[in-house]
Amino acid sequence: MSTERAGSLQVITGPMFSGKSEELMRRVHRSQLAGRRVLVITHALDDRRGVEQVSTHTGRSIPATTATDSQQILALASGQDLDLLAIDEAQFFGPDLISTVLTLAGEGAVVVVSGLCVTFDAQPYPPLPELMALAEQVTKLTAVCAVCGADAVYHQRIQAASASQPGATDPTVARAEHIGGTESYQARCRRHLE
Ligand SMILES: [Zn+2]
Repeated sequence: MSTERAGSLQVITGPMFSGKSEELMRRVHRSQLAGRRVLVITHALDDRRGVEQVSTHTGRSIPATTATDSQQILALASGQDLDLLAIDEAQFFGPDLISTVLTLAGEGAVVVVSGLCVTFDAQPYPPLPELMALAEQVTKLTAVCAVCGADAVYHQRIQAASASQPGATDPTVARAEHIGGTESYQARCRRHLE
């Protein structure tokens, strides 16, 4: 049946606090309301508000299956005749995610990928730029600059948060650096990026 269907790749991206997970949830809810077969996957690293769910900074969440790498995503989703595969925190899956989502879209699924396209030091964050290039549809979101309120395409670490940096090997610290929250990162516009 899936061979009769045309899959596609949709990308939702932007800096932290731009509402990427909210937009992903909106699409998942619409698909569920339509009675479609949906699978939501998030990276196992992201357990800021409990495992096996996609959470937003505003506190909403939906159930999700966790995966640690792209091979797990392929194993979970391939042959499931999915209508929609939603992948959150895509930046954590690395470059291998590209071939995985292309394979699954080729099998007929609509694959929606959400993730950061910039690092906290304002560099492109693979594999989102590559996925944007290969997608049928790209939704590029902006956050709100914490200084002036302008559209923000960046997020940066707040210096105060790292003033008394405990041991870098502390897994809690390592996780905070990757995941963050309002306590350690701020959205910044081009003018206020430091
Ligand atoms: Zn600004």
